[in-house]
Amino acid sequence: MFNLEGKVILVTGGNRGIGEAIVKKLEKLGAKVAYTSLASKGNSSSLHIKADVTNEEEMRNAIYTVEMKLGKIYGVVANAGINRDNFFSDMKFEEWSDVLDVNLNGVYNTIKPVIPSMYKSNEGSIVLISSIVGETGNIGQVNYAASKAALIGMSKSLAAESARKGVRVNVVAPGFTNTHMTETIPTKVKEKIISNIPFRRFAEPEEIAWAVTFLLSPVLSSFITGQVIDVNGGQNM
Ligand code: NDP
Repeated sequence: MFNLEGKVILVTGGNRGIGEAIVKKLEKLGAKVAYTSLASKGNSSSLHIKADVTNEEEMRNAIYTVEMKLGKIYGVVANAGINRDNFFSDMKFEEWSDVLDVNLNGVYNTIKPVIPSMYKSNEGSIVLISSIVGETGNIGQVNYAASKAALIGMSKSLAAESARKGVRVNVVAPGFTNTHMTETIPTKVKEKIISNIPFRRFAEPEEIAWAVTFLLSPVLSSFITGQVIDVNGGQNM
């Protein structure tokens, strides 16, 4: 049904959290998966490449390796991301620039080397992982919200440019999800967030992965580009 069998798909930050759930789902659907991470390797037996998304050369080499070992890349999920939360009045420039570097420049470094071969073969699906915070803003996350909102503008512009080349570009914007990133939220704050989510809980990574695989599918989402799918339990309607 998904028609992802044999398709080569690269997931950045695929060793844990939402990225790992995406990798596992794609493996089950028969895709040829490659995933990157910064430090630790995940449990998956798919092709793992250690590469820092902020390093243009490392990402170019990573993509070359994927194409040499697995074949031409059909799909990319730009998932790697970080947060460095602080009130703006206290935010150091490094906290601002580190987040922009990984969450925005890292996406540039991930996608740029893949675009020529996608255009050449006239097919491809790119999914960027943004966040509910990129749409609504959030206290203590000026840097993170800026980076995640930027991905939405980026995807719509790239979608408009690349549709005639057969390439689709979409965004999944998760709400709060049970991963390492949200583990350290203090209980009181967590309870307050949950009281604003109609489903009264955080998402599980797999629930985000379903939306990503839908957007990767050349069949199920063939006429969808430049869109944002919110997976947030109704927190932002
Ligand atoms: P995790 O913190 O669990 O995982 C982050 C991933 O990004 C890890 O695989 C990490 O690799 C990788 N990563 C971080 N920095 C770099 C880098 N410089 N180069 C390469 N890889 C890097 O996060 P989540 O799974 O929660 O988040 C995944 C995505 O979803 C992020 O973009 C996040 O912003 C977004 N998101 C998450 C939400 C949530 O509530 N969890 C909500 C909305 C969006 P390593 O393990 O090697 O460090």
